[in-house]
Amino acid sequence: MAVKKRKLIVFDLDETLVHASKTELGHPAAFAFPPYFVYQRPFLAEMLTTIAAEYDLAVWSSSSREYVDAVVTHVFGARYPLQFAWSVERCVQKVDVRSNGYVYIKDLRKIQGQGYKLEQIMMVDDSPEKIARQPKNHVAIAAYTGHQDDRALLDLLQRLKSKNTAAA
Ligand SMILES: [Mg+2]
Repeated sequence: MAVKKRKLIVFDLDETLVHASKTELGHPAAFAFPPYFVYQRPFLAEMLTTIAAEYDLAVWSSSSREYVDAVVTHVFGARYPLQFAWSVERCVQKVDVRSNGYVYIKDLRKIQGQGYKLEQIMMVDDSPEKIARQPKNHVAIAAYTGHQDDRALLDLLQRLKSKNTAAA
C-alpha cells in the first residue's frame, strides 16, 4: 500500500452531515430512506467543495451498510470521491456500562491499512465516545438535528483553516 500524501478527513454521517427522522420536518428532505426522511446539514456542498481541494475524504458511520451506501450516493455522489465508506461492520462493539447498551467504537488504527498514518487522520464526529481510543484525532462537532439555521459546517471550515495555519 502506497503512503498517502494528503491528510484524510473522515466524516461520521448521522447528526454530523445528515439527520434522519421518521417524521417529516417543516422543510423538504434531501431524500427518503424508508421509514426515514434524511435531511442534509446546511452548507454541506460548500464545505465539501472547499475541503476536497486540500484533503482526502472518507466516511465512517456506525449505521448499516445499506444506509451508508444510500447517504453516500446522495451526499457525495461522483462529485466528491471517497477513499472508503465504512459502516458498522468496521466498528468495534463494546458494552456501555452506563446505559447497559452497546457503543460502537471507531478505532482509527484500522485506517492505517489504507496508507494513512494516524497523524494524517481527522475524524469529524458528533459522538466523542466513538473515537475514545484516539481523542487527539477527533474533531468535535455539535449534533445536527435538522435545523435550517445550523452553521456548524461553516465553523468547521474555519477551524480546519486555523489548524492548517497553526501547523505551517
Ligand atoms: Mg453521529
